[in-house]
Amino acid sequence: MGSIRKGTRSSAVSKATRYSASPDAERKIKEIIRVFEEVEPSPTTELRYRNPYELVVATLLSAQCTDKRVNEITPAFFKKFPDVYALAKASPKEVYELIKTCSYPNNKTKYLVELAQKVVKEFGGKIPDNAKDLQKLPGIGKKSAHVIASTLYGEPVLGVDTHVFRVTKRLGLHSARSPEQTERVLSPLIPPEYRSKFHHWIILHGRYVCKARNPQCDQCPLTDICEYYKTKQVSRKDGS
Ligand code: SF4
Repeated sequence: MGSIRKGTRSSAVSKATRYSASPDAERKIKEIIRVFEEVEPSPTTELRYRNPYELVVATLLSAQCTDKRVNEITPAFFKKFPDVYALAKASPKEVYELIKTCSYPNNKTKYLVELAQKVVKEFGGKIPDNAKDLQKLPGIGKKSAHVIASTLYGEPVLGVDTHVFRVTKRLGLHSARSPEQTERVLSPLIPPEYRSKFHHWIILHGRYVCKARNPQCDQCPLTDICEYYKTKQVSRKDGS
């Protein structure tokens, strides 16, 4: 009996802790907002776009690809396919030729044409203006839908990609093991009006400072609240 109770309790604890935010996550989030509001008050995407259609296409192309590469591809793409109607009628071969220097060009070609056809057929040719409907489009997952909806329409949703997952993990904001879990645990702690900015701040920070392989902690304004940095300092002092 005792061991059953013990087992039950320990699995409940492990379930609860597996995806949870850290006890001081809210305090750290306030500090991140304070610091980045001073340094970069208007963060946004580095993808170039002029309207919702172009941001959706650029976001789809940016999966597993750099924004720089996408920005090299899209001018010719939008010249040939200036709107969803043009793209909905495109042949896969034409699309492929224009995006072949991007990662996964075969899948992206398929998604782009299907996406345009769906927007024409089911949304009257207009890009959906909310994250829920954006997720119904081929090739647009939850993260992309959140980024698009928050960037274009100010919807208070948090986009979590690998950069946001990695940086928030290093900062010690949560114990999540994936971007999806991170989005779930952090969203409620970030004031709705800051969710879009938070996404862009952390993406940019992850891209230029808190890099995956070699974080540039000496250039980081968040060392005071960073778990990774604290641990690194302790190991240095210990000589390990
Ligand atoms: S202190 Fe280092 S590890 Fe921590 S957020 Fe800054 S760059 Fe990343």
